[in-house]
Amino acid sequence: MLSSGTRRLIEATADAARRGNDGDRHTVAGGILTASGEILTAMNAHHFTGGPCGEVSALALHAATMPDDPIVAVAAVHGPSGQVISPCGKCRQIFFERNPEICFVVREPAGLVELPVEQLLPNAYSSARLESPQEMHMAAGGHTGWFCPGTRCRPSGWMTRTAAGRPCSSLTGWNRPTTGCRS
Ligand SMILES: [Zn+2]
Repeated sequence: MLSSGTRRLIEATADAARRGNDGDRHTVAGGILTASGEILTAMNAHHFTGGPCGEVSALALHAATMPDDPIVAVAAVHGPSGQVISPCGKCRQIFFERNPEICFVVREPAGLVELPVEQLLPNAYSSARLESPQEMHMAAGGHTGWFCPGTRCRPSGWMTRTAAGRPCSSLTGWNRPTTGCRS
């Protein structure tokens, strides 16, 4: 079920696609809905060097005009067909790193839905999460490992613990135990 704000976003983005489509360099409109209910639309700028998608153009417009009004939803409409299209992988990644809770309008067999971008990128790369500790469940031996990024102890590497949380003393190879990182 689409919210009324998202329906307005789709209509405004489709209108922008109708007006801006030139069948060549500008064929996709991107639209952004903000928390206050404002809607911004922009066109893609195709070029073989990698011109921005419509959603990224709208993101840049948002930064220039209302950066303090959070983005809540994004839509893209293909001008030649008038259809809502799903965001490409690059757009998913860009908006995910702005805020994983931003919703994209996507097409499903039963119709249009809005989904948080984090659901569109399972196991996504996140530059913001590079420094956070990771837990690793060992496939054999019942051990739980922690990856130390090397910021609080040296050297960096895998630190392993038993399932009970005690350091394991019988590990070899790449999953060698280290100390002093996470107790
Ligand atoms: Zn894109």
